[in-house]
Amino acid sequence: MSKQLFAIFGDPVSHSRSPLMHNSVFKQLNYNACYTRVHLTDGSKLRETFLNLKLSGANITVPHKEEAFKACDEVRGFATKIGVVNTIVKENGKLIGYNTDADGFLFSISEFKNIKTILILGAGGTAKALSQKFSDEGFEVTILNRSENRLQSYTESGFKTFTWESFEIKKYDLVINTTSAGLQDSNLPAPKEIIKPLLQQSSYVADAIYGKVTPFLALAKELNKEYKDGADMLLGQGVLANNYFTASTFDLKTIEKYMRESFNY
Ligand code: NDP
Repeated sequence: MSKQLFAIFGDPVSHSRSPLMHNSVFKQLNYNACYTRVHLTDGSKLRETFLNLKLSGANITVPHKEEAFKACDEVRGFATKIGVVNTIVKENGKLIGYNTDADGFLFSISEFKNIKTILILGAGGTAKALSQKFSDEGFEVTILNRSENRLQSYTESGFKTFTWESFEIKKYDLVINTTSAGLQDSNLPAPKEIIKPLLQQSSYVADAIYGKVTPFLALAKELNKEYKDGADMLLGQGVLANNYFTASTFDLKTIEKYMRESFNY
């Protein structure tokens, strides 16, 4: 079989560790494939670009995961429930979509104990995946977002939703930042008058962003909270995506081993 090509689509995408992670697995396991990055500004061009590049599969990151859902011929598993796709695999000429973010996140917080209530900051693609998964797992989930627009679908699905204006600060067992605040700027995901008292009362803090200490995590650290950045979430979603890319040729533990090694590069 000729060499397979995989890619990550995003805007921005230069910060992504996915090429290192997947190439580490391909190289160590002698799998004839290579993984690159594609800076895509217009999400509606995703399908066309995927096909032009003759990709065998792709990951999709901010802000194109909902467009990725539309780009697929068929969507399977948890992604069908949420309309958000972060992994596409070409199968018999068709683009098949999956979502591996939520299971990746559950993997990353498995050491946080006694969690019942979760506050998600942000209402984009990542929030959608996590909120649905958490709710399926029996957690009580609340969503806080900067603007009203994206909250509607969450309200309709039965979640408690707030904007910064309507939010009443109280204790949550876990607070997760799924906004892109702090990714390329020094913003908190909500005004400090909200975030600081919120974190003071919470037990655990997590951020989907990885590779840097965001202002949000810096505050959690200052308040002596137990926290995690997005690296383990990234690892979790990557292991599951690689398993789709390689059609279950390797077991998950083997993929995890070589993918984790790439974090030392
Ligand atoms: P989306 O573009 O779908 O959603 C972005 C959300 O962030 C929206 O709710 C938006 O609010 C909010 N937002 C953006 N800027 C700000 C700001 N300055 N202050 C407050 N809220 C803001 O993004 P995704 O859900 O795809 O990704 C979100 C983040 O998660 C990214 O940083 C991404 O890198 C990270 N991520 C990490 C993963 C990992 O494996 N570790 C996996 C997936 C994502 P509004 O509606 O008001 O615009």
